[in-house]
Amino acid sequence: MRILVSGAGVAGPVLAYWLTRHGFSVTVVERAPALRRTGGHAVDLFRPATDISEKMGVLPRVEERATGTNRMTVYREGSRRPVRADLSKIFGAASDRHVEIMRDDLSQIYYDATRDDVEYVFDDSITAIVPEGEVRFENAAPRSFDLVVGADGLHSNVRHLVFDEQSRHSTFIGAYLGVLTLPNVADLDGELLIHVGVGRTAGMYGARHLGEARVLFLFRSERELDYHYRDVPRQKELLRGAFAGMHAHVDRWLDELDRTPAFYFDSITQVHMDTWSRGRVTLVGDAGYCPGPAVGGSTTLAVVGAYVLAGELARAGGDHVRAFPAYERVMAPHVRGSRAVASSAAKTLIPTSPLGVWGLAQGARLISALPAGPSRALLRLTTKSARLYDSMTVDDCPP
Ligand SMILES: Cc1cc2nc3c(=O)[nH]c(=O)nc-3n(C[C@H](O)[C@H](O)[C@H](O)COP(=O)(O)OP(=O)(O)OC[C@H]3O[C@@H](n4cnc5c(N)ncnc54)[C@H](O)[C@@H]3O)c2cc1C
Repeated sequence: MRILVSGAGVAGPVLAYWLTRHGFSVTVVERAPALRRTGGHAVDLFRPATDISEKMGVLPRVEERATGTNRMTVYREGSRRPVRADLSKIFGAASDRHVEIMRDDLSQIYYDATRDDVEYVFDDSITAIVPEGEVRFENAAPRSFDLVVGADGLHSNVRHLVFDEQSRHSTFIGAYLGVLTLPNVADLDGELLIHVGVGRTAGMYGARHLGEARVLFLFRSERELDYHYRDVPRQKELLRGAFAGMHAHVDRWLDELDRTPAFYFDSITQVHMDTWSRGRVTLVGDAGYCPGPAVGGSTTLAVVGAYVLAGELARAGGDHVRAFPAYERVMAPHVRGSRAVASSAAKTLIPTSPLGVWGLAQGARLISALPAGPSRALLRLTTKSARLYDSMTVDDCPP
């Protein structure tokens, strides 16, 4: 049985790994000319995703490439004295088994685990999926596949082709994010330096073993901003406008906007769909149910979704009529929970009031100062479903 997966990010290679383990023949088509090394950003693997990575035999590599960010210095806008917090305690309160890693490193590790058994086609994209099984591409000749899976991210091409009316599925949650790569001149090593004000948060993190540092900008906007997704100068202008006058550190980061080798800008958008499957096509990861980049555990959700989908296809002997609804049934509560966590995390990370700014800094300090048990309790009190990811259980895949 031949399965085509669109997208070699995180969900795509994990799905390809488990599908080949279950005996399916897999092709992955990736639009980028090579595995994307876009500078990337740090992502979180919580317990179920680290467990799945362990089953794949890649956990030692994942841990080796972990960012190791374990300290945080928080500057409240307008206040001179920073608050210092132990970030590893905060993550520890949220998850018993958490690894933070750069997205590009994670993608490379999952790709390496599959490259010998999976056909990867780079620099191409699906243009049409005919219900009878033929798939057409921008560059390659048409080919036939039994099933097609869209693992092509927040702005999924497969979702667009098969479910159309893209905008109907995207829910803007009132914020934007920007990421830039810059030299680690501050020589940060395992540290996150963060500035928080009402409606805006900017943070720089870096580690010596990772080379360059990254800055993440998050800001609120009640309405969707007017810009084209390819108009990078306009996106940079929007960032400069949103962060003007925040702090001298932030001004220096903004100065790097014209020099950065890698820049990312997007709205924080959730994908809401009634179903992720239509006929022989289904969606996995951000393509089907992104809870919002940078604010939710979308990477964990993508890894879990890929593992569950492959398992259900194996259990149903490749019968998608049984497997797709079963996959959706298992994932639906996880997706609902993730959306709630993401919306709540967005409120905490980009506070809407001076009290929220104070609460973020003091909450971080308090959680990091308490022993593990009370810090978990405090996190539960302050953040909705803080331990949601650790509570997700995934069945063992059929052998
Ligand atoms: C700035 C930022 C910060 C983030 N921070 C966090 C975080 O702190 N914690 C966390 O858990 N998650 C975070 N995320 C989210 C995380 O990156 C994603 O949830 C995760 O990568 C999802 O994996 P995916 O495989 O579904 O999609 P992606 O990783 O986006 O992969 C999609 C792949 O599909 C490819 N593709 C796109 N279009 C096509 C096409 N037409 N044809 C073929 N291939 C195509 C892309 O090139 C890409 O390789 C963040 C995301 C961003 C953007």
